[in-house]
Amino acid sequence: MANFYLDNKDLKFHLDHPLMKKIIALKENNFVDKDKFEYAPVDFEDALDSYDKVLEIVGDICGEIIGPNAESVDHEGPEVINGRVKYARGTQENHEALANAGLIGMSLPRQYGGLNFSMVPYVMAAELVSRADAGFANIWGLQDCAETLNEFASAELKNDFLPRFHKGATAAMDLTEPDAGSDLQAVMLKASYDEKRGEWMLNGVKRFITNGDADVSLVLARSEDGTTDGRGLSLFVYDKAHGGMTVRRIENKLGIKGSPTCELVFKNAPAKLVGDRKLGLIKYVMSLMNGARLGVGAQSVGIAEAAYREGLAYAKERAQFGKPIIQFPAVYEMLTDMEVKVKASRSLLYETTRLVDVYKTYSHLATERTLDKVEREELKTYQRLADVYTPLLKLFASEYCNQVAYDSLQIHGGSGYMKDYPIERIYRDARITNIYEGTTQLQVVAAIRGVTTGVYLKQMRDYETQELRPDLDYIRRDVIEMTDQYEKAVTLVNEVNGKEENNDYLDFHARRLVEMAGHIIMVYLLLNDTMRDAEFEKFAELMARTAKAENQKRMYYIQNFELKNLGMYKK
Ligand SMILES: Cc1cc2nc3c(=O)[nH]c(=O)nc-3n(C[C@H](O)[C@H](O)[C@H](O)COP(=O)(O)OP(=O)(O)OC[C@H]3O[C@@H](n4cnc5c(N)ncnc54)[C@H](O)[C@@H]3O)c2cc1C
Repeated sequence: MANFYLDNKDLKFHLDHPLMKKIIALKENNFVDKDKFEYAPVDFEDALDSYDKVLEIVGDICGEIIGPNAESVDHEGPEVINGRVKYARGTQENHEALANAGLIGMSLPRQYGGLNFSMVPYVMAAELVSRADAGFANIWGLQDCAETLNEFASAELKNDFLPRFHKGATAAMDLTEPDAGSDLQAVMLKASYDEKRGEWMLNGVKRFITNGDADVSLVLARSEDGTTDGRGLSLFVYDKAHGGMTVRRIENKLGIKGSPTCELVFKNAPAKLVGDRKLGLIKYVMSLMNGARLGVGAQSVGIAEAAYREGLAYAKERAQFGKPIIQFPAVYEMLTDMEVKVKASRSLLYETTRLVDVYKTYSHLATERTLDKVEREELKTYQRLADVYTPLLKLFASEYCNQVAYDSLQIHGGSGYMKDYPIERIYRDARITNIYEGTTQLQVVAAIRGVTTGVYLKQMRDYETQELRPDLDYIRRDVIEMTDQYEKAVTLVNEVNGKEENNDYLDFHARRLVEMAGHIIMVYLLLNDTMRDAEFEKFAELMARTAKAENQKRMYYIQNFELKNLGMYKK
């Protein structure tokens, strides 16, 4: 029996992280639910045990149902019939299996039928589902929308919408339009208040909407007449049962074929305002997208894990020149590089998730009681870190996932190019991860704040002081040197940029600086992992080698780049 949770011991390792004690204590708020709900945990061990048990169920469904369905879903795909989406047979079966096991709305409070799970097990489940079928992971992962409703909607809306998720309701996030992609401030779909009906009506077109025909949709729309920027946008919740929206078509695309990408037409579609007017983009969608970026981080790690496993299995079984190809240095080097990337991005994924967990749980507690001074400070610190770790994670996990899928296909040789092996599908699926939920370039735009405000540097210096096994001091010395080099690179870029009227020079080097920071942070995270499991030593050392070489390349580029060189690149 295949179980995607039990066959990967790194997952339990990350679930058992020491910070989980704090996260669960905050999330369960002194375990107040234990007298109200039979299935609520009574203490920390009980809560962790329930995470473990539920993940085992997810792992089983992934190994036994979702994974085996992935190939047929990729071939069959969804279709549009009379303006409505019909999922592929396997997609329907996957969804029913997860809904019947109570795995939709996992992180919602128990009063709405949820499991009140913290983000770590939820994100872990997303990684598992993505390893099984990245396209289906989108349909399941859009339950993030329920989180946004829980965070910002009125009690009335929460009571109306949230209990539906537990019963299997699907969701969609309707942001993109033909002229509003990376720049969501340009959204034009109109929301107007109908005085007679006493409700908001939506009119316009949305494009590239995953699972667009969902039961519940969050729609970003222009509610303020005469505005053209983000301050005129509000967020609405739309219930498909009320009509007014049709699916014009679904896109014929490269990968994640089981996930319907829809063009939607809203014609007098009634909808309800979420939270306050004008905060749609600047507050609610930012929060929704940060959650979704964590989801794509998990999706990327899941895809990379699947690709690595396929490459390893093939390299063991394929023989050339009289021996298995895994014995050739060129092949085993690729495999080890892939493994390092999977481990490093997974450590970054769960570190980021823990930061988000603490800050989100504090924010939620703050709506129920006054936080004391220490708690308020912690909230601020964790939020500041979560804000710069989330784009870093999305950038690295998605780029690494593409590289791992690329190398895995290479290991398959000609067979990898054929539809006979899963890697052909996995490779196509990987390609979307660094495009949606903000392209890699847009993650850099968000992450560069971590560079210019010094948040990454401070965090590196904090990691520097953490306890470490003395025998690994040689790696610590290397990474301290890399941190000094990073600091110098930031100063150099800032100095030249300061002489300019615009930020082009900083923007030009931004990805280099963000990547330097990311490499260093991943080495530190793997070093920390060695404190709990000696097996990470090898990966910390290998990541440190790669990081050193990669950062030197970037430093060389920055040091030898004069302002006038920018002109050579301009088109
Ligand atoms: C399969 C799929 C599913 C999707 N699902 C959803 C969904 O469920 N909901 C939803 O709302 N949207 C969804 N999207 C839309 C997706 O989020 C956008 O496609 C994405 O954000 C990029 O926008 P764009 O395609 O308009 O590209 P553009 O914004 O036109 O970007 C084109 C290129 O320009 C670069 N660029 C743009 N601005 C900058 C800048 N400031 N600095 C540097 N480079 C820049 C980009 O990095 C990119 O390389 C989906 C898209 C796809 C393909």
